[in-house]
Amino acid sequence: MVSKRIVLTFPHKLVDKPIVYKLVKDFNLVFNILQARITPKEEGLLVLELTGKKEDYADGIKYLTGLGVNIQPLSQDVTRDDLRCTHCGACVTVCPTEALYVDKKTMKVIFDNEKCIACELCVRACPPRAMKVKF
Ligand code: SF4
Ligand code: SF4
Repeated sequence: MVSKRIVLTFPHKLVDKPIVYKLVKDFNLVFNILQARITPKEEGLLVLELTGKKEDYADGIKYLTGLGVNIQPLSQDVTRDDLRCTHCGACVTVCPTEALYVDKKTMKVIFDNEKCIACELCVRACPPRAMKVKF
């Protein structure tokens, strides 16, 4: 069995298609939706925990990529340059998952990348460009 948390981004034309239903029905995968929304670019963004047999998981991923869905492991791409961060807090207000939060004791902004869903909202919000996306 495999269980992975992944971020799917897909074009607007696929937004109302039953992609997740197909993963369950045709590939016997179990899912847990962690986040679902439409990005400002009108793309669909879905963060899923997907569980199933290794071969079913591989077939499901193949099905998704064949549809034009972009798949990334959760949070691998977002990092913070601690030398640039001024702890201004601008990212805290935009982060939908509380991956960025203020530590009340130190009043420093903490980045918990386990909670990050790579939505990139903080990247645009950060004045000194401390939040980065790896390509
Ligand atoms: S917006 Fe940027 S500089 Fe401000 S706390 Fe967040 S990461 Fe640090
Ligand atoms: S990309 Fe930034 S705003 Fe989005 S979940 Fe991760 S830390 Fe929060």
